[in-house]
Amino acid sequence: MQEDCPFEKIYPSALHRDADYFMTHAYNEAIEAWKKDEVPIGAVIEYEGKIIASAHNQSRSTKDPTAHAEILAISQAASFIGDWRLNQCTLYVTKEPCPMCSGALVIARIGKVYYGLPDPRMGCVGGALDLGALPDSNHNFESVSGVLQELNHDILKAFFEKKRQANLAKKQAARDEGTATPDN
Ligand code: ZN
Repeated sequence: MQEDCPFEKIYPSALHRDADYFMTHAYNEAIEAWKKDEVPIGAVIEYEGKIIASAHNQSRSTKDPTAHAEILAISQAASFIGDWRLNQCTLYVTKEPCPMCSGALVIARIGKVYYGLPDPRMGCVGGALDLGALPDSNHNFESVSGVLQELNHDILKAFFEKKRQANLAKKQAARDEGTATPDN
């Protein structure tokens, strides 16, 4: 079932393929996630100026805790390039990668990471810690935080607010039902 998403996709000009351009495509993936009732996080991977991987969070629908946007995009990019090493690739993701995804980015030898919303609690590319800059690691990568941060913040905030309201309504309905039982 398609969920209504109050946010609309943005189609940037392909003439200026800067960080905002790629991040906008990641944001559009986040909207796709919302439509499937998934936490709206999206990612794309750029290689030689082109998007070679594009994915959104799918943990709920696949019942797979590893089905994060970044992991799915890494797999797509690796199969496109035909190599597990992604040194020449750049990842754009709407929210700072979690510990699992940050670890996968080290293992994939990603070239560079841009993310939208920082996550000081669970983010592992500079938020809570930085797995891209471990002193004795065999691979370090540069990261840039805060790309289209407001947009990426707003969609997540609105999604969790919607969920909170839905939960409150459910609880209220359960309470109303409770008072209507013949036992009372
Ligand atoms: Zn993750």
